[in-house]
Amino acid sequence: MAIDKTIDPARRSGRPLAKAGMQSERLLWPTKGPGAFEQEVETLEDALGLTTLEKAVAWAQTNSMWPDTFGLACCAIEMMSIVSSRYDIARFGMERFSSSPRQADLLIVSGRVAHKMAAPLRQVYDQMLEPKWVIAMGACASSGGMFNKYTILQGVDKIVPVDIHVPGCPPRPEALMEGIVRLHEKVMAGVPPAYEIRGVASG
Ligand code: SF4
Repeated sequence: MAIDKTIDPARRSGRPLAKAGMQSERLLWPTKGPGAFEQEVETLEDALGLTTLEKAVAWAQTNSMWPDTFGLACCAIEMMSIVSSRYDIARFGMERFSSSPRQADLLIVSGRVAHKMAAPLRQVYDQMLEPKWVIAMGACASSGGMFNKYTILQGVDKIVPVDIHVPGCPPRPEALMEGIVRLHEKVMAGVPPAYEIRGVASG
């Protein structure tokens, strides 16, 4: 490993790895400068990326979340547009944007959910492998919206645990992307998926 000569020696001597060890040679010869090996260890932090396994896994999960789209009404049109070149959701590793639970780990529910669709929606969710997350997109998916009546489910969190609610009627694609970014932040921060926190849906 080459020694980085650009690092100020004064700054180098105050670095954590230098403090951690490799000082024994200088105990016998205090005026002696750091040896080549000692300097290499001191610059180790610049040469390597240090992380934990949990952070590496979370990083991989957030950069390869594959959505299973569950579009039911007007909000679905806004959701579909995030794959277009204007919004380009592939930037987040979401090239695979399909309507199948196979290999998907993010369920995006967009639009009002009729009671008739509740069972299929839950079936799709159950077929997804863990860890998995749910975004309720729009007022209807989050709370039934303006459809306060017997045919419409008053919030998809009554049948699946929701991680992120995206407000709006309809939310713009930017709002959905904001929700996705917020979900990524939760995963990176180590927040467990909603099904682990709540166990079951609220309904
Ligand atoms: S929130 Fe508004 S745009 Fe979305 S499904 Fe309901 S009525 Fe349609």
